[in-house]
Amino acid sequence: MTMQRRDFLKTIGAASTVAAIPGCATMGGASGKVVVIGGGYGGATAAKYIRMWSEGRIDVTVVEPNPAFISCPISNLVLGGSKQIADVTVSYDNLVQRHGVKLVRDTATAVDPDKRTVKLASGQELPYDRLILSPGVDFMWDKVPSLNNADAQAKILHSWKAGAQTVALRDQLVAMPDGGIFVISIPVAPYRCPPGPYERACQVAWYFKRAKPKSKVLILDGNGDVTSKGPLFKKAWAEEYKGIVEYRANHVLTDVDVATRTAKFEVQDAVKADVLNVIPPQRASAIARSAGVVTANDRWCDVDFLTFESVKVKNIHVLGDSIQIATGMPKSAHMANQHAKVCAAAVVALLAGQAPNPTPVLTNTCYSFITDKDVVHVCSVHQYDKEKKTVLPVAGSGGVSPAMNELEGQYAFNWAKNIWADTLA
Ligand SMILES: Cc1cc2nc3c(=O)[nH]c(=O)nc-3n(C[C@H](O)[C@H](O)[C@H](O)COP(=O)(O)OP(=O)(O)OC[C@H]3O[C@@H](n4cnc5c(N)ncnc54)[C@H](O)[C@@H]3O)c2cc1C
Repeated sequence: MTMQRRDFLKTIGAASTVAAIPGCATMGGASGKVVVIGGGYGGATAAKYIRMWSEGRIDVTVVEPNPAFISCPISNLVLGGSKQIADVTVSYDNLVQRHGVKLVRDTATAVDPDKRTVKLASGQELPYDRLILSPGVDFMWDKVPSLNNADAQAKILHSWKAGAQTVALRDQLVAMPDGGIFVISIPVAPYRCPPGPYERACQVAWYFKRAKPKSKVLILDGNGDVTSKGPLFKKAWAEEYKGIVEYRANHVLTDVDVATRTAKFEVQDAVKADVLNVIPPQRASAIARSAGVVTANDRWCDVDFLTFESVKVKNIHVLGDSIQIATGMPKSAHMANQHAKVCAAAVVALLAGQAPNPTPVLTNTCYSFITDKDVVHVCSVHQYDKEKKTVLPVAGSGGVSPAMNELEGQYAFNWAKNIWADTLA
């Protein structure tokens, strides 16, 4: 059983790129200009692979305001204290020096799909033949009105974009007196990284168990139940973190009182915290709105899963957390990487005047750290269905860990090193 799982994980790790581009080693005839907005998991991967698969013929410019890539995966371990923010930070240097990607450190402020230009905060304009948007998520602050200003957001943290907020939340946990309560509020799905909030609760509990044993972790979930790896997380809270973690479902947050760190809910009583972590509801980042590609519930972007081109606006492709997901597809780094490879292969093909691969396959594995070493995973395989014109989970593929274990901890750290190298090295 263990061998089978290991073999499966090895196989999908090795095969994922190939599966995305059968028959497409390189497309030498391609040329043109591609602009990528966002140098995160989706954008950086797409940029690198377009350069590689076009043998350097397609000109690729990435627009990204951050000076380095900071990974959300593994960042919950910074909250637990077993990792530092430097451990999840990777330079963009290889993307530029090894792959010839042009990196513009700026923010895209507007897209003109008719003129095919992107406007930057600096005033510069970038023309494109194809535009790739992978800008991640924005928070819907209107759903938590008291947090709709910078002052309040500096006090009640989300830490759902790794970086300064991750470090600041760790500082709040360290400053909290023993005997305090850490409250994490989880939005109604869909949101970025379904198991991420539950992993975070485990990491904070791991820290409390060692450093502040009288303290508690209270999970207030907007959903009716744990949205990913439920039995595995519940077992961990009942055994590894007995008396530390408490889980309450159906807590849809309506607002907070910033001064008293109190969370307010649609139905349940308000809860006061010593450290309050609010993960607000999310939608595609603002630049997607400017490009006119937000099509689903005024939140997400529908795409053609053969190319990741917007169903509404031609020549604009959308990747990662911003898209309206297909059935069973999580909003994850692994999935954003897979979107990027399908899209990169399609863009190279289209710019060479060829048809994209008609049957792409995508894979996903999400590891969650229960302690600093013990890990559980969920994985799945998704294939394009020609009749239904969408991506569907492959019957019988994937699954979850039987129990947390250290071997999967090693796999998880290797997964992170591997995807950082795949994206940026
Ligand atoms: C705590 C946590 C843990 C997680 N753990 C895992 C995990 O273990 N495994 C996993 O697979 N996934 C995990 N995820 C999910 C994963 O991080 C996201 O799904 C992934 O980052 C999505 O990739 P993306 O390219 O859509 O967005 P991102 O990686 O967020 O990249 C978006 C980029 O766009 C840039 N940007 C935004 N707007 C603009 C603009 N206007 N102009 C220029 N640039 C712009 C941003 O600066 C950012 O760099 C986790 C998430 C969190 C929060």
